Amino acid sequence: MKNIVLFGPPGAGKGTQADKLVAKYGFNHISTGEVIRQQIKAETELGLSVKAYIERGELAPDSLVINIIADYVMNHTEGAGNIFDGFPRTTHQAEEFDKIMTANGQKVDAMIALTVPDEELIKRLLLRGQDSGRKDDADESVIRNRIDVYKAQTAIVADFYSAQGKYVEVDGVGSIDEIFDRLCAEIDKL
Ligand code: AMP
Repeated sequence: MKNIVLFGPPGAGKGTQADKLVAKYGFNHISTGEVIRQQIKAETELGLSVKAYIERGELAPDSLVINIIADYVMNHTEGAGNIFDGFPRTTHQAEEFDKIMTANGQKVDAMIALTVPDEELIKRLLLRGQDSGRKDDADESVIRNRIDVYKAQTAIVADFYSAQGKYVEVDGVGSIDEIFDRLCAEIDKL
């Protein structure tokens, strides 16, 4: 069983590549952003409590996403493996994630980061905003804020996995299939 953290800034292609990895390897997949968006749509208490953060391009509170992940991990301890997309996004989340994994007899095998230059990210997100219906993709200032938040709070999580010898970077520029092949080459080494 492989547990893989798919890492990278907003617009790096994590969701697109996660879908292809699920189809190829039979992994389960969780995107914390997707779970939060569903909760907002369903107007649940959780959804309503985080709506403002998401719309500003800020991170949701750690405790909330950690609970989402704890629940997911508890229910996904068998099978080909799991792709964690958009989590962990802070060092605190990464520390708590390790505890959750250990408590469930699991471990993170690798963090694979997709690297993409900022201007390319902004271009991709504005394009996605035209038809994704995501408010946080439609406004360039929110997009820039998400990239700034990534740099200020999230990028450092790479150090956490680097220190464990689990961090690998993949060039996230190219065709979807080229990037997918690069990812598969790393996953097949695990
Ligand atoms: P994403 O779909 O991964 O781009 O996430 C969309 C938004 O959901 C982010 O801008 C955050 O507001 C929130 N979010 C998703 N995952 C996390 C996380 N691990 N920690 C905090 N906030 C998150």
